Amino acid sequence: MKNLTFIVLILFSISCQSNLEKELKSTKKITVVAHRGASGYLPEHTLASKAMAHAMKADYIEQDIVLSKDDIPIVIHDILLDKVTNVSEKYPDRKREDGKYYVIDFTFEELKSLEVTERFDSETGLQIYPTRFPKGASSFRLHSLQDEIELIQGLNKSTGENIGIYPEIKKPKFHLENGKDISKIVLEILTKYGYSTKDDQCILQCFDALELERIRNQLKSELFLVQLMEFPEQKNLLQFYASYADGIGPSYKHLISSKTTSGFSFTSLVEESHNLSLVVHPYTFRKDSLEEFDSFQQMIDVVIHKAGADGGFTDFPDRMKEILETKL
Ligand code: CA
Repeated sequence: MKNLTFIVLILFSISCQSNLEKELKSTKKITVVAHRGASGYLPEHTLASKAMAHAMKADYIEQDIVLSKDDIPIVIHDILLDKVTNVSEKYPDRKREDGKYYVIDFTFEELKSLEVTERFDSETGLQIYPTRFPKGASSFRLHSLQDEIELIQGLNKSTGENIGIYPEIKKPKFHLENGKDISKIVLEILTKYGYSTKDDQCILQCFDALELERIRNQLKSELFLVQLMEFPEQKNLLQFYASYADGIGPSYKHLISSKTTSGFSFTSLVEESHNLSLVVHPYTFRKDSLEEFDSFQQMIDVVIHKAGADGGFTDFPDRMKEILETKL
């Protein structure tokens, strides 16, 4: 009889615990980051895609940043112009010896004269995601970080929302080789627009760990910093990352160790990060690139609810929010 009472008590406590876990899961605020804007619907990093992401009420809107020849931070994913603009038609003789067109070789005025379009393969000319916005349709332009901050802050004012920015410093070493300190320039602009502490709705990210460490320790930034991770082996550096950063941005694949018929199993990346007080914002949730998942819902459920990520980057912020708001 005693044994039976004991077993019942254990079962009761397990059931309470799992209810508590469910409760915690449903109340934890998940951060939805609009990856290059609402890039699943409009060409990436256009102001139109940012306005759409704002209307979808993503928590943060992402900016990738590369400097122009005249030191203006341009919102564009690559240091090259080849895959999202008509630069090869407009400036055919401005390519470097490697045959490529670099943002850093053009002034802001020149960059603004280019047409921006849905991302395409510069060899074949075919768009990367065939079901997305048609390549070549309508008219879009490049813009500066300042232009974009003013758009987001303007929309925050007119809608009453408080949507954040999530800028990424691209290739700091490449910029330095070309005589430019991109981090310093970007930090000055962020400060000017009111982003200087962890309470200011701005998360700054970079793949280059030494640069992000420099941003914290030498450039004395007090912003919320996220260390992007390219390789799963970088898990060994978590302690170093935690010495200056507030979070990590790994590929969602770094969270998954295997997939079998009985389900997914996970690496210790999220647990180790949380033990070091690092938030985990994996990239990239795309409903037209599901890879190992059967549906977009499963992708979000596995990475957020089962693996325990705190949010993530998505090309489809409306769909991600909808899934998170639906009780699974
Ligand atoms: Ca990025």
